[in-house]
Amino acid sequence: MKAHDGMYIDGAWRPAAGRDTIEVVNPADEQVIAHVPAGTAEDVDAAVRAARAALPGWAATAPAERAARIAALRDVLVARKDEIAGTVTAELGAPPSFSQAVHARLPVEVAGSYAELAASYAFEERIGNSTVYAEPVGVVGAITPWNYPLHQIVAKVAPALAAGCTIVLKPAEDTPLTAQLFAEAVHAAGIPAGVFNLVTGLGPVAGQALAEHPGVDLVSFTGSTAVGKRIGAAAGAAVKRVALELGGKSANVILPGADLARAVAVGVANVMGNSGQTCSAWTRMLVHTSQYDEAVALAVEAAGKYGDRIGPLVNARQQARVRGYIEKGVEEGARLVAGGPDAPRETGCYVSPTVFADVTPEMTIAQEEIFGPVLSILRYEDEDDALRIANATVYGLAGAVWAADDATAVAFARRMDTGQVDINGGRFNPLAPFGGHKQSGVGRELGPHGLAEYLQTKSLQF
Ligand code: NAP
Ligand code: MG
Repeated sequence: MKAHDGMYIDGAWRPAAGRDTIEVVNPADEQVIAHVPAGTAEDVDAAVRAARAALPGWAATAPAERAARIAALRDVLVARKDEIAGTVTAELGAPPSFSQAVHARLPVEVAGSYAELAASYAFEERIGNSTVYAEPVGVVGAITPWNYPLHQIVAKVAPALAAGCTIVLKPAEDTPLTAQLFAEAVHAAGIPAGVFNLVTGLGPVAGQALAEHPGVDLVSFTGSTAVGKRIGAAAGAAVKRVALELGGKSANVILPGADLARAVAVGVANVMGNSGQTCSAWTRMLVHTSQYDEAVALAVEAAGKYGDRIGPLVNARQQARVRGYIEKGVEEGARLVAGGPDAPRETGCYVSPTVFADVTPEMTIAQEEIFGPVLSILRYEDEDDALRIANATVYGLAGAVWAADDATAVAFARRMDTGQVDINGGRFNPLAPFGGHKQSGVGRELGPHGLAEYLQTKSLQF
């Protein structure tokens, strides 16, 4: 795979300050496919200076012109979609069809939505004798994970651009090639030098330097709760804006009267997609005791279909971590009904699609984010019991409710402590606010709510 050996700073690829590199590994066969530079605090500093210098010009650019640049960026992402999909498959391991349909396509939709929002958003309003301006927050430090490598970049960079902010991105060490492709797309779209900058590197080095840099006004982070807590604490100490999109342990609640076969099939697909590496995945299925055995049988059948279709996990560390959780589930007394801890192939970071029945709410596999193809099926006695179980984790990112009619499902969803709920199989909406209650994070991404994260108000009184 082609890789740049420098950082994209101030509109050009520039040599890294240090000599260290990061190996990029294909998790499907564990071969090294490229090397990228491991950035240091010096690279981060150069990138932040470039972003700061570009800020006044970009902030003063008319929204219609910012919209035109974001539309041009979307067009480059469309033109290069095959290359993007191929790169995500190579460094994340996602099956080619999933890379095309999701990893390459979703960022096009999100970039397109911000091209429209930049042009139509009311950056100015009258309130009584005041004019209130929505102004860019300033320089954004964006730190992204590997699980939806391009989507998570675009979900931060596109609204930041629309708002008039400038950006330094530190992508995940596992998926830097997708980030380099994105930097090429930014360049080709004619976005002015310094508005977007890329520093590849390790989290505790380049990521931490970016999060703590005094020249950064807002840190937007997606990843683990453990790292998110540290970033939130550092931002708090510096009185800096922060957005945290952290983990999840979402519930798929199937109420009596729902289409059970469909609810289970969609639920299993939701967990197995992207090899279970989705923060909003419905990893807990809640089924009424009267339908429990039937639901388990349906889930086993559905999981069986993923046997050879599922991709590997991102790396050997995640594979070991997920297998550890499966062993823990068995130890704590859950009933393994599909898959298991044994690696299904000799090479590659694969984990079998796994389903646990007889999972109780206090078990580790019902509480912690596993981030692998593992579904836990829990039993409830009545609606209040289902609600108590659904809300009984530290997380609150997403969820689903299935019922005989939408009104019943909505009434239940309104009582759930979570940021997004799909009603009777409702489709993903790239304009709806995405983000968590409780320890799933602070702030929202996507659509107009995602844009507002990158704006601050100034009011003038007349
Ligand atoms: P992570 O360490 O939180 O990684 C997320 C991003 O933060 C990466 O760019 C990472 O760099 C960076 N980072 C790491 N330590 C940092 C620090 N001290 N300061 C600033 N930035 C730092 O997550 P992970 O290790 O890749 O995955 C671990 C677990 O996190 C997963 O098993 C899963 O449960 C959860 N996770 C959640 C999401 C989500 O979408 N909410 C996404 C990914 C993972 P490096 O890539 O160099 O580590
Ligand atoms: Mg990490």
